[in-house]
Amino acid sequence: MTAFAWGAATDTGRVRPSNEDAYLALPGLFAVADGMGGHRGGSVASALALETLRGRLVDGDGPCTTDRLVLAVQEANEVIVDRAAQDPELLGMGTTLTAIALVQLHDQAALGVVNVGDSRLYLLKDGELEQITEDHSLVATLERQGRLTREEAAVHPQRNILTRALGIDARVMVDSWEILPFVGDRYLLCSDGLYNEVDDRRIEATLRKLADPAEAAHELVRLANEAGGRDNITCVVVDVVAEGDGPRPAAPADPPADPPADPSTELVAEPGRGTARFRNQLTWRAAVFGLAFAAIIAVASGAILWAGTRTFYVGLDGDRVAIYRGQPGGVLWIEPTLAETTDLHRDQLPESVVIDLEAGKVESSLDDARAYVDNLRNQLLPGTPRSRGTTPTTAGPSTTSAPSTTDVPPDPPA
Ligand code: MN
Repeated sequence: MTAFAWGAATDTGRVRPSNEDAYLALPGLFAVADGMGGHRGGSVASALALETLRGRLVDGDGPCTTDRLVLAVQEANEVIVDRAAQDPELLGMGTTLTAIALVQLHDQAALGVVNVGDSRLYLLKDGELEQITEDHSLVATLERQGRLTREEAAVHPQRNILTRALGIDARVMVDSWEILPFVGDRYLLCSDGLYNEVDDRRIEATLRKLADPAEAAHELVRLANEAGGRDNITCVVVDVVAEGDGPRPAAPADPPADPPADPSTELVAEPGRGTARFRNQLTWRAAVFGLAFAAIIAVASGAILWAGTRTFYVGLDGDRVAIYRGQPGGVLWIEPTLAETTDLHRDQLPESVVIDLEAGKVESSLDDARAYVDNLRNQLLPGTPRSRGTTPTTAGPSTTSAPSTTDVPPDPPA
């Protein structure tokens, strides 16, 4: 029996008129949702997501599995989409959802993880903090493509633009996987109001310093407010403890935020601050540096050739999903070349995948690109079994696998 101790805190922050974040902290089920959408929308969306999750998992029959967790998230998506369709005031509302739940995995206890959007799950293991979830945001996509550094992404004016959220589309891709819990592991679920204000090193130091999970959660919220508190902030800290110690909350948890009725303007992206950051200027004095420059050019050409041809990406060739050799958009003079086309069509894909493919989903090898396409096909086409990579972690902080992606069956309810 795996046991947990936990603590949580949520706060409106210092700028927003209301708190549209919400969380769940129940024995064996922890979640954070960051709602968005004008007027009441954001807080309704985050509350609906957590209500649905709780209803399907806590009140459901039989052992919890990651499949059930994914289905609950997809159902939460439908609930939000349906509600928005009924109430014009709620049109356009959406929410992120990041959750972990105790699940059964081949006769042993594991943690099922699901994620949609840019709330995060971190793991503090042996004193080192690791981000487990992958953000579904524009800047995270650009970062994965090597077009922004992590530091640039952290301050980018468009960092609040999401590529995936619940409530946007009838279908949603849900990242999901399993992790084996070990005594001493500490998990942090948080909304972007934390990590946009407090950098990972500070989060790590705080999680190491404060043994009490409730104290750690409150301290993280305090630090985010101290740094500006420009968004709602939510932190749930979950410790895996020895069997006899739990399950228990370390201290009375705050109640999840109730949907407040205040109007809000969350979804609006901050105005851009210029886009010159992508350009690097090379200046040199020909007479002095001629020779060195020639050498640099030779090395750089090799590097560009290497970067331009060694990777593959999955993109669109007209309406067909296709695999290209090279980098999306090319690297200098090296244009990507079509490696393979597939039988998948654009109109079979949910909008979020089309967005990913239009940008180019970079993979490190042809095999990886094919695996990505296979995974898409398995999820989208009827009659094929769902394949979701299950890669439990073993000891060590660097063994957490990349998330796999699961989609709803191809026929959403009308
Ligand atoms: Mn937020």
